[in-house]
Amino acid sequence: MEKQAIVIGAGIAGLASALRLRKQGFAVRVFEAAGYPGGKLQEFNSKGYRFDYGPSLFTMPHLVDELFRLYEEDPKDSFKYIRKEKVCNYFWSDGTRYSVPANENEFIETAAKTFKEDPKDIEKYLEKNALKYRLTAPLFIEKSLHKLSTYLGNKTFKAITRILQYDLTSSLNRVNEKSFRNKKLVQLFNRYATYNGSSPFRTPGIMSMIPHLEMHYGAFLPENGMHDITKALYKLATRQGIEFSFNEKVREINYLGKTVTGVTSEKEAYTANVVVSNMDIYSTYQHLLPNFPAPKHIMKQERSSSALIFYWGISQSFPELDLHNILFSDNYEEEFRQIFDLETVYEDPTVYINITSKNVPADAPEGCENWFVMVNVPANTGQNWQELIPRVRENLKKKISATLDADIDKFIQTEDVLDPIRIEKDTSSHQGSLYGTSSNSRMAAFLRHPNFSGKLKNLYFVGGSVHPGGGIPLCLNSAKITSEIIENDFK
Ligand code: FAD
Repeated sequence: MEKQAIVIGAGIAGLASALRLRKQGFAVRVFEAAGYPGGKLQEFNSKGYRFDYGPSLFTMPHLVDELFRLYEEDPKDSFKYIRKEKVCNYFWSDGTRYSVPANENEFIETAAKTFKEDPKDIEKYLEKNALKYRLTAPLFIEKSLHKLSTYLGNKTFKAITRILQYDLTSSLNRVNEKSFRNKKLVQLFNRYATYNGSSPFRTPGIMSMIPHLEMHYGAFLPENGMHDITKALYKLATRQGIEFSFNEKVREINYLGKTVTGVTSEKEAYTANVVVSNMDIYSTYQHLLPNFPAPKHIMKQERSSSALIFYWGISQSFPELDLHNILFSDNYEEEFRQIFDLETVYEDPTVYINITSKNVPADAPEGCENWFVMVNVPANTGQNWQELIPRVRENLKKKISATLDADIDKFIQTEDVLDPIRIEKDTSSHQGSLYGTSSNSRMAAFLRHPNFSGKLKNLYFVGGSVHPGGGIPLCLNSAKITSEIIENDFK
């Protein structure tokens, strides 16, 4: 008889885990509270505009491709994407503009000119980022930090002997300030802390490896927008006989003694040899294991930032904008102090505008654009969002209108708003955080929950709130790490 696996949640990590377990010979059933797969990686339409709900930046697409190759399929037959030539457009309030080219040499040359830095300093910085990534990825990103075997490998030994080079004791901002004189270039590289929902003034300098992923490996966009990732993986999963139960919320994880035996959903109880929770780790303990003692440090951990997003259908085209655009705050340090210390939103926030219709014309009516306008905000700890949202909306409009020298208000044809409360309601992400726990401490990587339960046999965890962290590439890695652990456990 086939071994049975249950996956709770059809987020990107849930889909990837289901695929990997099916390949190992498990009969897999995925329970999803919503009526669709993808979790944060979903889409919606409004008055002729299509919007991606959450993630907009796609790096390391080979981690998606790999899931097709697992089944000897050519990923290109089912999942197509382009590499962006322009990675991101940056705007400052004094009129400075800079567009990051995909080519690293071109970046060094143009950034040196724009920011009046020595090209050799920029090159040295990028090389160090690459080294940090090469040395630490096999330990921190691709393996479980909670299995002894990880520490016995040659690569780990090498990574540990070079620990002083990782800038663990300096903040990312400090590392960037030591590397460059120009404050705008420092700000540009500080922004990468937001890729895992942290503050550059608190997250350790090792995070300077993040730009390496974007600048070296590239920024990509699936052919029809981000939601293609979900669609392609869901179709692959159904081709492989993975069963999905949508609109079926899991209520409890069942166990006998110290062994997990299955789950109880809103409809009935199911048995399984393996249960993988793709639900946020905090919510898993809180809701699905109510009588089981949750690890206290996990329940108390600071969450990553959340977001306020205005999805605007814009009846105009702006040639100075591209797929990814950043309008920087004049005081980045204050912006992050307000997010993480005061837990509110700064009046001059950095604004991110994502426009997929620049590359996918069908995403907006002709001559129009689908704007996803986002600001980083604190996770929900009870702020008055009804009061904050209109204030942020007005500040955004002013900032965007000044930058583009146009009255944006008159072009907004349709609006939808996403806030931390809705993110939690839609996906069970505790406090509506985007990336699980924050990476604001140098121990963050070690404090994240492992991919398995140390107390309940046959219970595993994947997704943005557990090791190795949030964001699509790390979620895909969590599925990979977890399925390797399961394979070993069931040998
Ligand atoms: P989720 O997507 O959170 O899915 C969990 C699923 O579990 C949901 O479908 C939920 O309905 C289901 N579920 C929960 N509880 C139950 C239950 N009891 N029973 C059944 N099902 C349940 N990442 C990037 O890489 N690039 C970006 O540009 C980026 N931008 C982002 C912007 C926003 C606004 C957001 C919200 C996130 C962004 N992220 C980005 C982060 C990225 O979206 C997440 O890290 C990733 O999608 C999380 O995937 P996951 O598999 O952990 O689960």
